[in-house]
Amino acid sequence: MYASDMISLHRSLPDVRDTECRSLQYQEKLPDTSVVVCFHNEAWTVLLRTVHSILDRSAPHLLKEIILVDDFSDMDHLKEPLETYMAKLGKVKIVRTKKREGLIRARLLGYSVSTGDVLTYLDSHCECTEGWLEPLLDRIATNNSIVVCPVIDVIEDDSFKYQYGSAKSTSIGGFDWNLQFNWHAIPEYERQRREYKDYMPVRSPTMAGGLFSISREYFTKIGTYDPGMDIWGGENLEMSFRVWMCGGTLEIIPCSHVGHIFRKRSPYKWRSGVNVVKKNSIRLAEVWMDDYRNYYYERFNNDLGDYGDVSERKALRKKLNCKSFDWFVKNIYPDLFVPGEAVASGEVRNKAKPMCVDSSVDSHNFHKPVNMWPCHNQGGNQYWMLSKGGEIRRDDGCLDYSGGESVIIYPCHSQKGNQEWVYREDNTILHANTQKCMEVSVDGQKLLMRTCSGTDRQLWQWKKKPPNGIIRDVA
Ligand code: UDP
Ligand code: MN
Repeated sequence: MYASDMISLHRSLPDVRDTECRSLQYQEKLPDTSVVVCFHNEAWTVLLRTVHSILDRSAPHLLKEIILVDDFSDMDHLKEPLETYMAKLGKVKIVRTKKREGLIRARLLGYSVSTGDVLTYLDSHCECTEGWLEPLLDRIATNNSIVVCPVIDVIEDDSFKYQYGSAKSTSIGGFDWNLQFNWHAIPEYERQRREYKDYMPVRSPTMAGGLFSISREYFTKIGTYDPGMDIWGGENLEMSFRVWMCGGTLEIIPCSHVGHIFRKRSPYKWRSGVNVVKKNSIRLAEVWMDDYRNYYYERFNNDLGDYGDVSERKALRKKLNCKSFDWFVKNIYPDLFVPGEAVASGEVRNKAKPMCVDSSVDSHNFHKPVNMWPCHNQGGNQYWMLSKGGEIRRDDGCLDYSGGESVIIYPCHSQKGNQEWVYREDNTILHANTQKCMEVSVDGQKLLMRTCSGTDRQLWQWKKKPPNGIIRDVA
């Protein structure tokens, strides 16, 4: 807040678009949009700068209105002072929830009072850049079942520095089996489909969730949001799966850039005693993920708890005649690692010593050496899967060797390279690139890479069959 208070509400930002974007011609008749901004106890200048950046950088005829949805904030500046300030700007409506609803139902309230052709949702700590709106609306004008996201640039939360990258470095959305959203490089097949033009819209399996535009008619048709979801989380994957499985398309538009302040932790109260994200995620898994939901449920031993009633959402899926999750995985997210397809899994135990390959794969563990630890038969950090592509992995962490001293944990990139391993008939584990073998050190404490020699310290016992045949074919 201190940094934000010192910076102009109308600060200038660099034109972050690739040069091709500046000369693109958009359709003459574009739909207009309501921009919906939900907030709970947002800082004064941060919220105001969000609103001004929308007003300052959107063509007036395309911006029908800005709807501020106050999700039961209790800070004084968001009451009468906000009303007075916004009344002078025109185009800005304020609506307020009667109790704390969370961002999903707050967005639904914004939708219910909106009048534009398109809904554009933004967080309450964003800054729109030059030319952000036209490329989004242009895609929806082409086909109203395309749901579009701008590139989300990082505004640093301590300095407000605006960071941005070229269209070449645009990332797309994925998820892991904890149902957490994550970012990935654009896969080769998608680059090829776009004829290697970096400024072209990119298809994305999932969206981050905070910033996107959708035709109001289409939003209505595909069932808006699940109103049974509370506070935060899960709604982005729910919407992503629903859009793809029910005939729509999800894209990221490299020519549209909006900055977003990424906070190190959530600054407001959630709900005591309930794991809200888990509950929301179970709701979406029950409705959309068919048998694949079990990979998620395994993570908490199938202890689902009370996730409420999802029968209406199931009826929606039926009414819309949506495709299966298996179709989604195979056609929209073929790079997703599916645990049931692992060719080997479980602990990786050395023959010479009762030691196992052991490492956490949390992001703070990336780049750190992989350890050896006495085998404990409890899974956890000793549970590894060998993917069809030769990765040794858990979630998004892969064993990676670049020829130096240690094998490290690195985000999986599915490009083989340093992450391709071969578990051979003779029980050695070969690194394809360097043709070296995994070996435990003489004292048993370290994992080394050495010329293959057939010593017992290079032999590994790894359960060969998939953990359990969870995946049945979805009819
Ligand atoms: N939000 C809300 N009610 C809530 C939680 C969040 O209105 O109970 C708003 C919040 O002010 C923000 C948006 O929803 O504008 C997304 O939340 P947040 O920025 O915390 O999510 P993140 O960007 O960290 O994923
Ligand atoms: Mn946010």
